[in-house]
Amino acid sequence: MSSCSDVWKEKKRVVVVGGGIAGALIVKQLQFHADVILVDPKEYFEMPWTWLRAMVEPTFAERGIIDHTDYFKNGRLVTATASSVSENEIMTSEGRYISFDYLVIATGHLDTVPMTRMQRLVTFRENHQKISYAKSVLVIGGGPTGVEFCAELVTAFPNKKITLVHSGPRLMEFVGTKAATKCYEWLAARNVDILLEQTVNLEAVTEEGTYETSRGETIVADCHFECTGRKLSSTWLQDTILQSSLDEEGRLAVDQHLRVKGYDHIFAIGDITNITEIKQGLYAQKHAQVAAKNIKNLLKGDKKAKLASYKPGKAIAMVTLGRKEAMAYFPFLTVVGCVPGFLKAKDYFVGRTRKQLGLEPHHHQS
Ligand SMILES: Cc1cc2nc3c(=O)[nH]c(=O)nc-3n(C[C@H](O)[C@H](O)[C@H](O)COP(=O)(O)OP(=O)(O)OC[C@H]3O[C@@H](n4cnc5c(N)ncnc54)[C@H](O)[C@@H]3O)c2cc1C
Repeated sequence: MSSCSDVWKEKKRVVVVGGGIAGALIVKQLQFHADVILVDPKEYFEMPWTWLRAMVEPTFAERGIIDHTDYFKNGRLVTATASSVSENEIMTSEGRYISFDYLVIATGHLDTVPMTRMQRLVTFRENHQKISYAKSVLVIGGGPTGVEFCAELVTAFPNKKITLVHSGPRLMEFVGTKAATKCYEWLAARNVDILLEQTVNLEAVTEEGTYETSRGETIVADCHFECTGRKLSSTWLQDTILQSSLDEEGRLAVDQHLRVKGYDHIFAIGDITNITEIKQGLYAQKHAQVAAKNIKNLLKGDKKAKLASYKPGKAIAMVTLGRKEAMAYFPFLTVVGCVPGFLKAKDYFVGRTRKQLGLEPHHHQS
C-alpha cells in the first residue's frame, strides 16, 4: 500500500503561478490529473469585472470573490508571490523553492489587495461609504473601466456630480469611433462632465478636494478614483531564464500551444501573454482550457501527443452602461441598449464564471 506522500511522488507536479481568471480555471481543470500547486498572494480568486458594480453595491462582490479552496479541492495552495524561476523550480517571496515538472505562468496583474476574502469584502464596503458621503466624484481614465465605473456611479447615485478626465482625444480608443461616441453620449446625457485630452497630476493636489488638469481647468471633487490600467506582473521574470522571452511591454512570447517559446514544459496564459488580441477575461479562460488540454496530454507521457492550438480572439468588447444597458462592439457592428445589456449588465458574467469553477451560480457565500 502506498502512503499519501508516495502517491504525490508518483504524480507529475504542475505548478500554477497566479490565481486570477486564467490560473483559477486551469487549476480547477488539472487538479485530479497531477500534483497541482497554486501560488497566489491571496487566499481567494476574484473577477475584476465585478469591482465596478461592487463599489456602488458592496454585496455584489460576495459572489465574485471566491476562496481558492472552494473550487481547488485536490492540491496545495501556497499564499506567496513568486519571485524567480529556473528550468525546474520557482522561488517564492519567502525564499521557498517549489520544483515542477510543468509550470503555468498566469500572473497577469498584481494588485494591492488584502490577503483574505473577508478583508477584501470590507474594502468594497469602505469604498461604497466613501462614495455615499461624497457629493462629487472624479474618475481618472476613460478606458472601458472608467466608462463602466461612471455609468455605475450615475445609475446608483444620479444626484452626484461625476467628472471623467481622459488623456486621449476620445473615450476608449481601443474600440471604433462610433462605439466610443455612443458611450460618450450615454454618459453626457446623464450629466457626466467629460474632459478629453487632459490629465490630472495627483501629486500636485494642494488643496483637498481641488484638482487641476494639464490644461489648467479646476475640478472640485470630494473623492477620486484612478481607472488608468493595471501594471503587468512580469518583473519577477526579469533576470531569470525567461527574461529573453519577455517583449518590450513585459509580456511572455508563447507558441500556438501556449508554451513559452523555447520551453516544452513551461506554459503562459492570460493577460501576461503577448498574443495579439484584446486582453480579456473571456480569452484568459480560453487560454486556460487549451493549456489544460495540452498539459493533460503531456502528463499521459505521450511525447508525440498532438497538442491543441489557440486561435487569437476577435476584437470584441462589451461595456456595461448601468443596470440594463451595455455597448457591444464587434469589428463591423456596434450595438447599444438593452439587448447587450441583457447579456452583461445584470450579472456581469458572475454566474457563468462561478459555474465554470464548479460552483452554484447564485450561491451567496458570506
Ligand atoms: C475593471 C475591469 C473590468 C473588466 N471587465 C472585463 C469584462 O467585462 N470582460 C472580460 O472578458 N474581461 C474584463 N476585464 C479584463 C479581465 O479582468 C482580465 O483580462 C483578466 O483578469 C486576466 O486574467 P489573468 O488571470 O490573466 O490575470 P489576473 O486576473 O490579473 O490575475 C493574475 C493573478 O496572478 C497573481 N499574481 C501576480 N503576480 C504574481 C506573482 N509574482 N506570484 C504569484 N501570483 C501572482 C495575482 O494575485 C492574480 O491573482 C476587466 C478588467 C478590469 C480591471
